[in-house]
Amino acid sequence: MSINSEEVTKRYLNLKDEIENISIKTGRKGNIKIVAITKYLSDTDFATLKQTPIREIGESRIQTAAKRFNLCKDFKWHMVGHIQTNKIKDLLNIFSVVHSVDRTELVSKIQSRLNDTGRHLESFIQVNIFNEPQKSGVSADKVDETICYSREHCKNIKLVGLMCMAPYDADDEKIREGFKQLRKLSEQHKLQELSMGMSNDYKIAIEEGATIVRIGRYLWNH
Ligand SMILES: *Cc1c(COP(=O)(O)O)cnc(C)c1O
Repeated sequence: MSINSEEVTKRYLNLKDEIENISIKTGRKGNIKIVAITKYLSDTDFATLKQTPIREIGESRIQTAAKRFNLCKDFKWHMVGHIQTNKIKDLLNIFSVVHSVDRTELVSKIQSRLNDTGRHLESFIQVNIFNEPQKSGVSADKVDETICYSREHCKNIKLVGLMCMAPYDADDEKIREGFKQLRKLSEQHKLQELSMGMSNDYKIAIEEGATIVRIGRYLWNH
């Protein structure tokens, strides 16, 4: 598979318009961010993105990101995959936003490393709102505890919001219910951002209050 910069640009701009329209129709202000998930692309295809308006990139593997990091200095990197604590140094060298913070141990180790460097990081807490045994994320009943820990002990981590992933095969009503729950949790904790919605379910996510969608297959026409 290889991508074409003109086609990707067209798809990206269409998606931006569509998202803006849904957002306004549901009484929101718009300004919803699209993070392009590049985990499916070859290094050659990845380099093609420089010729498109896409500048916010999401990767699920630190090693892949490390290889690509120098290809384009203007990209803003979002980490969306599971993080092993022995990769935190590389994580912080590349990413400025992490969507996949899923345990207190990780928050604590990220903070220790940030302490040494004096840097800051934006983070989302990933919530396993659909209670899938194979998925990462804190369970809904542990969200309070994780938020409190991050806010009280981690001065270099700016907690901006919550993130979730819906199951691929669930029906729309079940997905909507999970998104609603995540939004409720984020409002309870006065968090600004909601990272939810992928190629399958971004419309529902926007209707339910997403501020950031993470889109892969739609953009690459998979
Ligand atoms: C792969 C992935 C996405 C993008 O999914 P698509 O179905 O390709 O849009 C979004 N978020 C996470 C965490 C992912 O791993």
